Amino acid sequence: MLTKKGIPVSPGVAIAPAMVLDGEDQPIPRRTVAPSQIPAELTRLEGALSASTAEIQELKDKTAATVGQELAAIFGFHIGMLADESLVGEIRSAIQNQLITAEFAVYSVLKGLGKKFLQADSRYMRERVSDVWDLERRILRHLIGKARDELSHLKHNAVVIAHDLTPSQTASLDKSKIKGIATDAGGLTSHTAILAHALGIPAIVGLEDITSQVNTGAMVIIDGQRGVVTIDPDAEQLMQSRQEADRMVAFEDSLTEIRDLPAVTKDGTKINLQANIEFPNEIDQAIRNGAKGIGLYRTEFLFLASKAEPTEQQQYETYLEAIRNLDGKPLTVRTLDLGADKVFKLQSEAGETIERNPFLGCRSIRLCLQNLPLFKTQLRAVLRASTEGPVRIMFPLISNIMELRQARMILSDVKEDLEDQGVAFGEDIPVGIMVEVPSVALQAKTFCREVDFMSIGTNDLIQYTVAVDRGNERIASLYSGAHPAVITLIREVTRAGDKAGVEVSLCGEMASAPEYTMLLIGLGLRSLSITPPALPEVKQIIRTVSIDQCRRVARKAVTFDSDREVANYLRDQVSKAIPGVFDGRSIGY
Ligand code: PEP
Ligand code: MG
Repeated sequence: MLTKKGIPVSPGVAIAPAMVLDGEDQPIPRRTVAPSQIPAELTRLEGALSASTAEIQELKDKTAATVGQELAAIFGFHIGMLADESLVGEIRSAIQNQLITAEFAVYSVLKGLGKKFLQADSRYMRERVSDVWDLERRILRHLIGKARDELSHLKHNAVVIAHDLTPSQTASLDKSKIKGIATDAGGLTSHTAILAHALGIPAIVGLEDITSQVNTGAMVIIDGQRGVVTIDPDAEQLMQSRQEADRMVAFEDSLTEIRDLPAVTKDGTKINLQANIEFPNEIDQAIRNGAKGIGLYRTEFLFLASKAEPTEQQQYETYLEAIRNLDGKPLTVRTLDLGADKVFKLQSEAGETIERNPFLGCRSIRLCLQNLPLFKTQLRAVLRASTEGPVRIMFPLISNIMELRQARMILSDVKEDLEDQGVAFGEDIPVGIMVEVPSVALQAKTFCREVDFMSIGTNDLIQYTVAVDRGNERIASLYSGAHPAVITLIREVTRAGDKAGVEVSLCGEMASAPEYTMLLIGLGLRSLSITPPALPEVKQIIRTVSIDQCRRVARKAVTFDSDREVANYLRDQVSKAIPGVFDGRSIGY
């Protein structure tokens, strides 16, 4: 039995056999397999070799037809290596003799070959090393890609152990079979973490080397509450975890009655509790958990889960589905927030995402403003769907007032086009922005003159304020919503909104974390948008506290110098209000 501690990002306990996925761009850990599995590993190897050969042959033919035989000859070298019996034989023997996975055999044999090339006297041979690495990545991609594809039609329950998962991989997991997720990489608000939480899948990220500790098929417990992974648990541990899983289900059930009660503080102040979603089919759960609308619809997930760019009609139908599922409750549609870690396949194929600093690069509204057909298609689809229910449009990652003006102008152009074509759309659609860049928080007063509403996106606001990549496990301890600078920015935005009469909401993960509920209300927020599973718990806190109590907490919280002092103080105050609320939990944003 082995335990490892990581960053808990989605609560719940999962107990199931592991399904380990490697990353083709990461070192492949040495993992052994049972002798009975050797034939299956050899079959996987053969499949990957022939798929690679077919792919290279196609590339060779295409290159010969478009740029000539001479350049196409490069691929002849790759095909030659794949047909080299001594090389392929060495990989096969490694699997058979060392009882290792096909991935590790390919990785170690080709690494060895690459080293030999690098030590060669001939410059020609030394330069060929890049062909060896290229071939290695291609074969691994076939081996690993196939394993990833299998995830969407698993026959049995499993927990996924991976170096990292992209948001689109997480979005396409078969939720009925995947019981938990544990990854080497990732931080508290990486998009994979957010999605796992929204889907209700227990998840732990930032485990650093979990992929080299677990073999596919090993029994694993993922405790998404404490952030602990247990590999090959003993009988006692299994029993304890099963009890813990039952206890959590009972806790969930105990919150059932609160779902239908209003979100009002003890002294009668109403808090507008809405939900964050990625897909329209999450709306049912959100409403069941008491959401009064959708405060953040991350529309980019429609793109991330599709193979091709969704057409206007496909988008229209999806937005319509969301509006209909809401049955008159408001829907805040955030326009495409693609880029950074949310990379859409077509973008990467077009080479548009080769960015030195993806989070500071051409993502989100910036990408939309540089790709007007993409942006306008989405706006047309949203506007057309808006005849069927209350819709608000929200632009993400605004950092400069000119971007907002430009986005609004494009929205007006799209409306004019629709009018000219006699296509109906909803009237007086409110337009707002995400406040997730410090420049906008500091200029909130100016922005208030040009928006109908604002929503604070603390997931990004934190990373841009404290210069910490939200998905980087190595600096995760520096990423905190309790940082005094972050709290000051939230306060500035809330005050500006109050003065200008502009609604300010908060839709970052901080709103879903119970330790921040009193602070956020105390800072003046009256609208929160939350991941659906967290709605009952946050409502429970709201119903237990008074506005005066929250204001006192906020006034005290801004006097501390460090995030640690603030975090301790907040946990203390919320625990006093609701004893036991943090039992066994170590989630904190
Ligand atoms: C945020 O940044 O807080 C936010 C809600 O948007 P996302 O997590 O999708 O970047
Ligand atoms: Mg964001």
